[in-house]
Amino acid sequence: MSLSEQLETAHRFGVRAAMAGLQDAALEEVRLTGPNVPRLADAAVSSATPFVRAPLLALISQALLLHPPAGDDDERCPTCGTSAPCATASTLVMSA
Ligand SMILES: [Zn+2]
Repeated sequence: MSLSEQLETAHRFGVRAAMAGLQDAALEEVRLTGPNVPRLADAAVSSATPFVRAPLLALISQALLLHPPAGDDDERCPTCGTSAPCATASTLVMSA
């Protein structure tokens, strides 16, 4: 599954979870019901997603500083000591 397919799947799961949360009986009088719940849940997940991803993207960025895809002056990964891009950099670039 490609990264964009994984992100789309994660978004769908997030919307389903948000729909369940908005309709939770424990919310009592503020519980939402009706045909607008999916639209509201999608809007909530869409606006929250960048904030959810931010810590992960920060970690990927820090790891790329240790494993620069272009390598050092000798085109080697300064952390792994292998030819650049090292396996870590290759994986991280695909994830970012
Ligand atoms: Zn490396």
